[in-house]
Amino acid sequence: MYKITLIPGDGVGPEITEATKRVLEATGVSFEWDVQNAGEEVYKQEGSPLPDRVLDSIRKNKIALKGPITTPVGSGFRSVNVLLRQSLDLFCCLRPCKTYAGAKSRYENIDLVIVRENTEDLYAGIEYQKGSEGAKSIIEFIQNTTGKRVRQDSGISIKPISVYATERIVRYAFEYARKNKRRKVTAVHKANIMKYSDGLFLEVARTVANNYPDIEFEDKIIDNMCMQLVQKPEFYDILVLPNLYGDVVSDIAAGLIGGLGLAPGANIGDEFAVFEATHGSAPKYKGLNKINPMAMILSGIMMLRHLGEKEAAERLDKSISSVIKEGKSVTYDMKPTPDDPSAATTSEVADAIISKII
Ligand code: NAD
Repeated sequence: MYKITLIPGDGVGPEITEATKRVLEATGVSFEWDVQNAGEEVYKQEGSPLPDRVLDSIRKNKIALKGPITTPVGSGFRSVNVLLRQSLDLFCCLRPCKTYAGAKSRYENIDLVIVRENTEDLYAGIEYQKGSEGAKSIIEFIQNTTGKRVRQDSGISIKPISVYATERIVRYAFEYARKNKRRKVTAVHKANIMKYSDGLFLEVARTVANNYPDIEFEDKIIDNMCMQLVQKPEFYDILVLPNLYGDVVSDIAAGLIGGLGLAPGANIGDEFAVFEATHGSAPKYKGLNKINPMAMILSGIMMLRHLGEKEAAERLDKSISSVIKEGKSVTYDMKPTPDDPSAATTSEVADAIISKII
């Protein structure tokens, strides 16, 4: 029996979490779910979108399965997702994107793994509001030390990239490559422009790569990488990226395999792991029983593998593959057109997957 923290999340979170829970239980592996709500409603009720009880539960159980949580844009509380990753030092965001036969996509045979640094970069949460004392003193400091003028009406976000965090994320990418018999790691950056942050990322990546002569290594500038992913994604294998580029490229990779409905993910640290889909809370679909639960179920498969339940993970993966291949019990996003009347509901997809688990 595995005790897992279960965070249903906001928007469509509760629907896909329920579907995922049912599917995981149908594999025969036993779970005890420690349900911990977090997010918008919890913020209204408890004054914090991520109360301590949630973090305490994950610290105790070590593993969580999480639905998406809404982040208000521009104002309101800061991202719970980012806070969770930072508080638990979940330094790696792992997002495998592979093509399932029958999935609606412009591409075939995609098999990419995105390894995104999860704790620093522009997502470190170090920001100074326009007009604040902090912003004023940074503007003054920059003027005094570089002679460069930053406009007084600027908001400022800081981009730290460290040797420590880069070393461990690049090492993770290479270790993952070895363990999973992958051929190549590509480090993605903009070192030509940001010499002291991305430049450091690249320098450290090259040094780490020297320890893995059995795995091919190369680097690509982020803009070129985006173009290459659209033109010839089959050239790439594992991509290791700083936080912001990793976020954006994860969605490109999701698009290559047929959309966010099929893109799973995991946030992994030395001690804890939180499994969640790449997509967000899709608020406009909330309560409609319409959204694709497969991305979260695939994240559940990653969790099964993490728990060492490889055989259950394989059985579930086969069952999902067969539902996708058949193309009948799939949600609107996987049908030829989004208004296809034969689209299955979220819970029907779960039922179909469960019926095919051997
Ligand atoms: P989103 O991923 O929630 O949805 C964008 C669109 O993608 C949806 O409107 C829908 O058309 C499609 N989509 C997403 N998931 C799908 C699925 N499972 N099946 C079918 N179609 C799907 O992105 P957004 O609208 O930019 O973000 C909504 C909220 O979610 C924001 O508050 C954002 O901050 C948050 N968010 C949270 C996480 C997380 O919890 N890790 C990740 C990303 C975004």
